[in-house]
Amino acid sequence: MPKFKTVRGMRDFLPKDAEKMRYVEVAARNIARLYGYGEVITPIVEHYNLLTAKSGEEIRKRMYAFRDMGDRRVALRPEFTASIARLVTAKMRQEPKPMKLFCAGSLYRYDEPQYGRFREFWQANYELIGSSKPEADAEILTLTYDLMERLGFRNYWFKIGHVGILRGILTQETVAEEQQNTIVQLLDKKKWNEALTATHKLGASQSCVAVLKKLLETRGKDVSKVLKEAKHVVEGYEGAVAAVENLQEILELTRNSGIKFETLIEAGFARGLEYYTGMIFECYVPNIEVALAGGGRYDKLIELFGGEPTPALGVAQGIDRLVLAMKKHGVTPKVPEKTKVMIIPVDEELRTKAIELSINLRKAKIPAEVEVMGRAVSKALSNADRREVTHAVIVGPEELREGKVVLKDMKNREQRTVEIANLSKEILEDTS
Ligand code: AMP
Repeated sequence: MPKFKTVRGMRDFLPKDAEKMRYVEVAARNIARLYGYGEVITPIVEHYNLLTAKSGEEIRKRMYAFRDMGDRRVALRPEFTASIARLVTAKMRQEPKPMKLFCAGSLYRYDEPQYGRFREFWQANYELIGSSKPEADAEILTLTYDLMERLGFRNYWFKIGHVGILRGILTQETVAEEQQNTIVQLLDKKKWNEALTATHKLGASQSCVAVLKKLLETRGKDVSKVLKEAKHVVEGYEGAVAAVENLQEILELTRNSGIKFETLIEAGFARGLEYYTGMIFECYVPNIEVALAGGGRYDKLIELFGGEPTPALGVAQGIDRLVLAMKKHGVTPKVPEKTKVMIIPVDEELRTKAIELSINLRKAKIPAEVEVMGRAVSKALSNADRREVTHAVIVGPEELREGKVVLKDMKNREQRTVEIANLSKEILEDTS
């Protein structure tokens, strides 16, 4: 038989790693509940046309696309937002606004595998649909901040910009939207000079190119200073000025509400997805180049998919990247020590009793395993240690005759004989 390996870019998660992934997912799900986001589950396979409608060149060329056996052109989802836009236009048209939707799951992009970049990865995704107000933008930023804090990160920052700044300038210079997308893609890939050359080639004036160049240099951590500068740079471009003012309001709402996070404003910041229309952001930690989360406003997407014009925005948090960052920064999950019981029958005749005891413990919500390898007690106990069992229950014939078993606390190695009727109570008392 050949030795099978995982496909390049795909990973197995062994129990300890899978547990960390679930820990982050549960934390994200809790945030969804606390902020009033209802969960939706959408398919991994979608129509190719839906996924390519507005995702941007970068994602488009990296999709796992194929024809299914019914000759439909389909692809594995590379992001959630297109599916949510489809769902909202097709099935949730009459729902009262705002609609707040959460989803979590795997996504697929044929990226070049590297640190923090895989071909299958997981996101927790939140969409706030129906509001154009800056308080909605503030909420999406706040809930991402909240997740970072709850996971235990202390050193992180948000890179924030506004697509409207760039688009406002280009629109006034009569650069068509399609061509604007080319420039956005170049900026997203940090190909600044190429972006400036392309802007010039696409008919923008020399002074516009100079404004863009300045804009790219307008960045920094002093929010009010950078925004003031940005406003000055884009003077005369109405749309761009309005975008800076919008960003100003969003950040005032967020930062004056009592929460603190480091912010890096980049006036020329662009993100690869074409559908963004307003505030855009990403979240970073030191020593990891890739973003842990990314999101923004996309006011035209729902309309593009045949719905009413509906303002909306959202954020996607990379679950596996958050796990990676937690490891790198020594951020440990805050999980209370979990009780784990192993029931060991002393001989074969006592196996049924062991199973019966385990069923009763689980009824009392205590995780319980039965020794299934036929090991002698001493070997079974060292195996229990390896499995991080907190309590061993040894079922022996003499104790059993009196309706009792031996309960061994694996941490302090103390053992005592307890009534079977009191077993779950004794274990719970031990761990409370
Ligand atoms: P995007 O949809 O590209 O804005 O990505 C949103 C978030 O998903 C990023 O901030 C990452 O946390 C995560 N992500 C995107 N691409 C990958 C990838 N190839 N591998 C792992 N995580 C990813």
